[in-house]
Amino acid sequence: MVIKDKYDRPILSFRMSITNRCNLNCLYCHHDGMIPSKDEMTPSEIAKIAEVAKDLGVKKIRLSGGEPLLRKDIVDIVDKLNQIGFKDISLTTNGTFLSKYSQDLKNAGLDRINVSLDTLNEDKYKFLTKKDYLSGVKEGILKAVEYGIYPVKINMVLMKGINEDEIWDMFTFTRDNGLILQLIELMESESCDDNSFSKNHHLDISSIEEEIKKIADEVKLRKNMQNRPKYFIGKGEIEIVKPFDNTNFCQRCTRLRLTPTGKIKPCLLRNDNLINIINPIRNGASDEELKQIFLEGISLREPYNKAECDKSYRC
Ligand code: SAM
Repeated sequence: MVIKDKYDRPILSFRMSITNRCNLNCLYCHHDGMIPSKDEMTPSEIAKIAEVAKDLGVKKIRLSGGEPLLRKDIVDIVDKLNQIGFKDISLTTNGTFLSKYSQDLKNAGLDRINVSLDTLNEDKYKFLTKKDYLSGVKEGILKAVEYGIYPVKINMVLMKGINEDEIWDMFTFTRDNGLILQLIELMESESCDDNSFSKNHHLDISSIEEEIKKIADEVKLRKNMQNRPKYFIGKGEIEIVKPFDNTNFCQRCTRLRLTPTGKIKPCLLRNDNLINIINPIRNGASDEELKQIFLEGISLREPYNKAECDKSYRC
């Protein structure tokens, strides 16, 4: 069974933000569109919500944050999700605790990870994150590969005047270490602490994509992932995430989200239509009542960029 929203988009994946806390302070961070709060869900509550999602046809879980590896119970959380039986469990991390957790996470059932890394240059890393953790992150990435987490993707947000000159160095690093490079267009968001950075450093990555296209040996589209293209160049692989002016970003969105405070979030870019599911759980709601809460969240889904939706395609 797969549930579709009123725009005919199947709900296949669930991105669960499990903390707002982060040990980096990235200049452009949209905090996954979340409002700051200290209240966090327990591993059992996270698993309960995931179970309802599974019953409604969700196949994939991605844990995010804040920084999910700041939770000391992260291995327990992955273990509990694994027991529910998802097709795929993944995690997005800044990598600073990967050396510590890679092996245990793999053993607990984690399939894949995305590691955010925008630069291989120590000074730029410090400038962007306000921390001096680059060597530890690189070490953690190699540990994840060593312990068999696959694939390990590097999320590189491109910023004009900051790291656009590093794309091919990053490509070499990813290719030589068996990783995938994911190039992300910098977004503005109401959740950024300071949107002026994103405005000033926004880079339209179309011309970079054209360059990549020309030298790619093969191109594939990720059907259930907003038709994101994957470019294969020799032994390397590059994916492009382009939310701006991209008809596929909203039209083909198959993802529902959960805030770290236990609210269903129908859209990355909105905070005005959240549905509280944690209070009903804490008040003893039945499985059927929780299912109805999920369905309400799904019924509120609509493309953020409605103008994108042309008449030929019922987005
Ligand atoms: N702490 C984890 C991490 O660093 O990966 C997970 C949370 S972070 C908000 C999730 C992803 O969002 C990261 O890959 C980050 O690069 C990306 N991101 C954050 N702000 C962004 C923005 N303004 N534009 C594009 N991507 C952004």
